Amino acid sequence: MKTRYGYAGIHGFDRQTGLNILLDEVHVDPSQWSLAPRYMSFALTNACELACPYCYASKIPARQRFEDILRWAKDLDAAGCFGVGFGGGEPMLYPRFAELCRDVALETNLAVTMTTHGHRFSDELSDKLSGHVNFIRLSMDGVGETYERLRGRSFPSFLEKLALVRSTARFGVNFVVNDETIEDLPEAAALVFGEGAKEFLLLPQTGTDGKLAMAPETLQRLKNWVSDNYERCRLATSAHGGAEIDAPMLMNSKPEYQTYDFMHVDAMGTLKISAFAGEGISLTGGTSIVAAIQETRSKQSQMEEYA
Ligand code: SF4
Repeated sequence: MKTRYGYAGIHGFDRQTGLNILLDEVHVDPSQWSLAPRYMSFALTNACELACPYCYASKIPARQRFEDILRWAKDLDAAGCFGVGFGGGEPMLYPRFAELCRDVALETNLAVTMTTHGHRFSDELSDKLSGHVNFIRLSMDGVGETYERLRGRSFPSFLEKLALVRSTARFGVNFVVNDETIEDLPEAAALVFGEGAKEFLLLPQTGTDGKLAMAPETLQRLKNWVSDNYERCRLATSAHGGAEIDAPMLMNSKPEYQTYDFMHVDAMGTLKISAFAGEGISLTGGTSIVAAIQETRSKQSQMEEYA
C-alpha cells in the first residue's frame, strides 16, 4: 500500500484493489504534505475518430512524447502521486499505448487508469493491457438511440466492447449529463452496475469555457436523481460537477486544495490546474514536473491574495 500525506491526513492506497484508507484524525503539517497531486491526468493525444457534439477536447493536432510521460510518471511517483490517468482525445490512438501502460505499471507504483470511448478495444489489446491498467473509465452518454445519436456508433457494438473492458480491468462508466441524456440516467445506471461497473461518474455537460451547459430543469432532475440514489450505488462526479449538483458525492475537492488532488497535462505538454484551464506551464523544455506543480500553486495563492 502506498502512502501520502496531505490536508486530509495520512492516506493509504492499494492500486491493485483500489482500496483507500484515510487516517483523517492525524494532522499533517503543510510542510510535510506530498508535493504531487493525488492524481494526474494526461491527454496523450488530441486525436479522436468520434465527433461528440459536446466534446471540449482541443482539436489542435498534438501528442506527447513517450519518454517525457515515463519520466514525469516516475517523478510524480516519487513525489507521492497515487495514479495517472491517460485520456485524450482517444488514448488508444496513441502509438505504443499498451507499451506505455506496461512501462508505467512496471517502473512505478502508480495506478494506471485510462478514459476511453472503448470502440478500439480488441482481444489483442485487452491481453496487452491486462495487468498493466488498474482501472478503465468507459464513456457512455445515454443508452440505445441516444448513445447512437450522440456518439455516432452502434450501441450493441459498444456493449460488446464493454464486455472486453470488463475482462481487462476494474472499470467505471463516465456519463455526460445533458438535456438529451438525462432521460436515460436511470436505465444507464441499472445497465452499468448490472454489467459490473465499480463506479458511475456523472459529468454535467459544460462548454469549452467550463460553464454548465444544460437547462435549469435538467440540472434539477439530476440533483433529484442523485439525492435519491447516491446511498444505493457508487456515484462520483468531477470537482466542477460536485459544486453544481450540491450533493454528497465522491471525488469532490475543496477549491483551495484542488491542486493537491488533481492536475492535468495537455497533449502539448502543458501542466494545468484542470483540463478546462486555458493557461499553464509548459514542461517541454525539460522543466521538472514537480517544480512546475509548485510554481502553479504559488501563482494560484498569489492570485487568491490579490482577488
Ligand atoms: S470520444 Fe471523447 S474525445 Fe472523442 S469526440 Fe467524443 S468526447 Fe471528444
